[in-house]
Amino acid sequence: MAYTLGNAMIYTGDKFIDKGYITVEGEKIVDVGEMELFHGYMERDLNGRLVMPAWVNAHTHVYSTLALGMSVEFHPMSFTQILKQLWWKLDKSLGVEEIQISAMIAAANFIHNGIATIFDHHSSPNYIKGSLGILKNAIVDLAGMRGVFCFETSDRDGTQMEALEENVNFYEKSKSDAHSSGMIGLHASFTLSDRTLERISEICNGKIPIHVHVAEGLEDELDSINNHNMRIIERFDHYNLLIENSIYAHCIHVNNEEVRMISKKGGFIVVNPQSNMNNAVGIPDLAKFKRGDAKVALGNDGFGFSPAFDFRLLALSQKHLNKDSLAFSSSDIKNVVDNSYELATNHLKERFGKVKPGFVADISVVDYKPATPITYENFYDHLFFGITEASVNSLYVAGKPIMIDGEIKTFDEKEIRKISQKMAKNLWKKL
Ligand SMILES: [Zn+2]
Repeated sequence: MAYTLGNAMIYTGDKFIDKGYITVEGEKIVDVGEMELFHGYMERDLNGRLVMPAWVNAHTHVYSTLALGMSVEFHPMSFTQILKQLWWKLDKSLGVEEIQISAMIAAANFIHNGIATIFDHHSSPNYIKGSLGILKNAIVDLAGMRGVFCFETSDRDGTQMEALEENVNFYEKSKSDAHSSGMIGLHASFTLSDRTLERISEICNGKIPIHVHVAEGLEDELDSINNHNMRIIERFDHYNLLIENSIYAHCIHVNNEEVRMISKKGGFIVVNPQSNMNNAVGIPDLAKFKRGDAKVALGNDGFGFSPAFDFRLLALSQKHLNKDSLAFSSSDIKNVVDNSYELATNHLKERFGKVKPGFVADISVVDYKPATPITYENFYDHLFFGITEASVNSLYVAGKPIMIDGEIKTFDEKEIRKISQKMAKNLWKKL
């Protein structure tokens, strides 16, 4: 049944409407226009709030959710030691319940921040089979979001063929679903043997996209050069793993040629500057990516949930890196956001990123009261300096109200947070 949300400021992606309405039917937007032209029944009066397309997070790790506040013996001297001393301890302790609760808490946090779609990179080496189904069940079926999932295949503790099987099984199952899909997950070049890459190459057959960390720490690139006599992206190309719509996360230490190779094969570089600065691994150079004509999208790498910080750190990091206050503009942010929507469109086979007939009804209602004039032309300035700091009032995904007036409608958030408190305590004891 169709319904209409009215009396809203609307950023459609193509124009800005000061006072408008949106009509949704099923999972799609069917009509958008000026309020004065609407004469039907208004299901909900948005009282001047801002409506805009819901966000896409192009690289995250839901499994890290229960690590907030956790204390482990931690004195890393390198990025690999950060993995060994923290993340590779945590992921090995995850079982079915921890995966489930991490996913529900992450879903709650994403929803409160207006994020409707995530590209998750999962790891739970002691609970592999069925893990992606658990994530999908929690994030998509229960919480009502959309997700593209994969399991990080790695040879860090010996070959993990079970992880590959999990990727393939999930990918096959969710192939034609507009709410969830799969990719082939790889940890990173430095934890993958030639034999495993050969096997992944056979499975992908140049068609199934991969989701992998690339040159996050310098040691990843050095490992490839020293042990395989080629750079990371050359190594992936050698195994025919430069595949359209793949995600190459970070790419901090890649060279110009590697960027061009990714771009030529239709891959996406997904940057996560906030996480990079936290791990002290360097900053991705977006000017280099632009020169190489690469598509760049934005993720959070599992670090926090508010896109406000990711946008801000992205812009500020580029200005800092280039010592140029004009190094990154609001139109550069728009490009990155648009690329995230394109990534979702390509994977989920629906149209994302606009409040326009024919597009998915994934919309965010924001409590934004602009103190200065807001137009299509300056929308991204408002976004960068104001909108991302305003609270998200409501979120609709595929036309379904997931959160209304700050309250999640698809599951009992309070109850989930109670359970996660207990579970985190027990999990931390195990580490
Ligand atoms: Zn990551």
